[in-house]
Amino acid sequence: MTQNEVDKILTEKVLRECWHSWELATPDVEYCLKCRKGRDTGDIYINPDFSKWEDYGPLLEKIQSETWWEDFVAVQWDNGLMPEGNFLGTLLNPARGSLALVEFVKDREDTDG
Ligand SMILES: [Zn+2]
Repeated sequence: MTQNEVDKILTEKVLRECWHSWELATPDVEYCLKCRKGRDTGDIYINPDFSKWEDYGPLLEKIQSETWWEDFVAVQWDNGLMPEGNFLGTLLNPARGSLALVEFVKDREDTDG
């Protein structure tokens, strides 16, 4: 899975925000064609990059108030990441942490049906 795929899933499933689409953008259309954000202001909206702290940090804060946060921690424990202390190392690394998070979110979705 590429970081871009990870970013898209986490934006939609965890932040529950629009993954802005520029596929049909032209010089005359510089706003997101899905949510139309930026249409009135002319601002171009960039999608998050969770391999960077400026985007990953707020995500990390947000997930700690999610109902599934403790489940996420428990799954990491079951995966053997907690006893060795590797969970913190993973969580504190934006690229590895966002990948662990997306795997958890996808597993959870598969389980829920
Ligand atoms: Zn959008």
